[in-house]
Amino acid sequence: VIAEPSNFLRQIIDHDLASGAYQQRTDRNGQAIPSIITRFPPEPNGYLHIGHAKSICLNFGLANDYKQQAGGARCNMRLDDTNPVKEDVEYADSILDAVQWLGFDWGTHLYHASDYFDQLYAFAQALIENGKAYVDSQSADEIHANRGNFGQVGKNSPHRERTPAENLTLFRGMQDGRYQDGEHVLRLKIDMAHPNIVMRDPVVYRIRHTEHHRTGSKWCIYPLYDFTHCISDALENVSHSICTLEFENNRPLYDWIISALQELGIFKTPVPHQYEFARLNLTYTITSKRKLLQLVEEKRVDGWDDPRMPTIVGIRRRGYTPESIRLFCERIGVSKADSWIDMSTLDQALRDDLESKAPRATAVLKPLKLVIQNFDVLACEPCSAPCHPQHPEWGNREFQFTRDLWIEADDFMQDPVKGFFRLFPPVGDQPGGRVRLRHGFVIECTGYELDANGHVTQVNATYFPDSKSGTPGSNNYKVKGNIHWISAAEAIPTEVRLYDHLFNDPHPDSGDKHFLEAINLNSKQTITAYLEPCMKEAKAGERFQFERHGYFIADQLDSASGKPVFNRTVGLKDSWK
Ligand code: ATP
Ligand code: MG
Ligand code: MG
Repeated sequence: VIAEPSNFLRQIIDHDLASGAYQQRTDRNGQAIPSIITRFPPEPNGYLHIGHAKSICLNFGLANDYKQQAGGARCNMRLDDTNPVKEDVEYADSILDAVQWLGFDWGTHLYHASDYFDQLYAFAQALIENGKAYVDSQSADEIHANRGNFGQVGKNSPHRERTPAENLTLFRGMQDGRYQDGEHVLRLKIDMAHPNIVMRDPVVYRIRHTEHHRTGSKWCIYPLYDFTHCISDALENVSHSICTLEFENNRPLYDWIISALQELGIFKTPVPHQYEFARLNLTYTITSKRKLLQLVEEKRVDGWDDPRMPTIVGIRRRGYTPESIRLFCERIGVSKADSWIDMSTLDQALRDDLESKAPRATAVLKPLKLVIQNFDVLACEPCSAPCHPQHPEWGNREFQFTRDLWIEADDFMQDPVKGFFRLFPPVGDQPGGRVRLRHGFVIECTGYELDANGHVTQVNATYFPDSKSGTPGSNNYKVKGNIHWISAAEAIPTEVRLYDHLFNDPHPDSGDKHFLEAINLNSKQTITAYLEPCMKEAKAGERFQFERHGYFIADQLDSASGKPVFNRTVGLKDSWK
């Protein structure tokens, strides 16, 4: 695993370690625990996306790095599953799978916030007994209206002065199922005039007569995020609770709850502290689970794992490697200031990862027939190319040179523009374009044929028999163009999907336009390409560099034995203009 570069969080951790307060920590049972504990706490209400990858690499990356140091470190995997309405095991499973695929290991430290329901309920009662929480019976709308706006104070609830005994009875009645959804809520008694609206008696429990995917029908009250999160952190002895900037306003509440429970002797120092970092915003895509869900539900993409989706399952299927995602996260770093990261940064990380790893292969994506007129129709000349130029030990690919070949349509121009060094017809006493057919022969264009609509149907050429690559004669030919080709006799017609960005707007998620209006309706193009013979054996999940085109993966789901289907992951050059 690649080490994270230095960032402000490391400085905080280094400072905390140097203070000595985190040495020889023990949990509530007196068991030794690492000095540094981080956690990754997604809510299982959707599939993880590339933004989550940043948080995963950060939290698990810090733990991996500080593991080496005195006191040690670890990262807990926690499913923050306290809202039964939107959560599902399908999502929980996919989250764990995504973290593992990215290369991180939580060992035995997998937790569920729902495992803390008993403790959360006990702590809520302790706060009630100490006058720090009360049951409110206003409607949701009244609570919202009475909270007040910024610059204006809120209004106390008429139920705010209920006695602890009354509150306890009501709260237990809520859990005993005596009330309907929305009849009562539990609120912390903080300050309705607090300048930070988050602190105006936040709601921490509400009634929801809904089955939970793990606790079934045991509970009909569920704790809210602000209450659950800090307590889960404290119960797990998290030292550094790292979240995105939108939770900055919630930090005083995090600290308030922890210190209220500390005063009751429930938690001891060092208690967890929350630190915020800037979320990942990536151009031409969106990183919001809710909006991604909308794309899936409205069938604007082919599911969560559509290769155009920024979900981990999507980018995985598209062909990105775990190493490239970690490299990307390392390169973008971690800061406290929001910014946009260019999609090309992600693509470059993939190219840098695969350049030395991906075997090379030939694919003609837009085929045009090339006929070598001085080559016998029945003849064939064996040719070969290294599977990877830097890995001779990987061996060679073998293929045939024949009279009829496929080349890229773009490698021929009837009227060549200035600086076009590939194939073009002779004009007057000017000879036709000369190119080397990679790993084959040098040829010279002698003409072309058109159909009734004026489309080029065939290019004609002659070859130079002494110019074969790897033979001494090949040195006598100096040509500027170097193009790929496949014998028509052995080309494998193969489905290839070419993907483009999912949105036309670099910032589809911000600004006044609705993100759905920015959808690129031409983001997926399915073609039949011609592949060199050995590609028939490509296995689902194998990655290749198709020479001159880019990196491709044999699709995990749609490839069959002897019949791969390819997705283009990225081109060789940046096309995110
Ligand atoms: P979304 O906003 O997409 O619904 P979320 O923030 O609700 O996502 P959680 O499941 O609560 O998703 O997130 C788990 C962790 O991942 C949190 O710590 C959250 O801050 C972090 N995270 C979510 N989105 C991003 C992002 N774009 N960049 C960095 N971290 C993120
Ligand atoms: Mg969330
Ligand atoms: Mg969010």
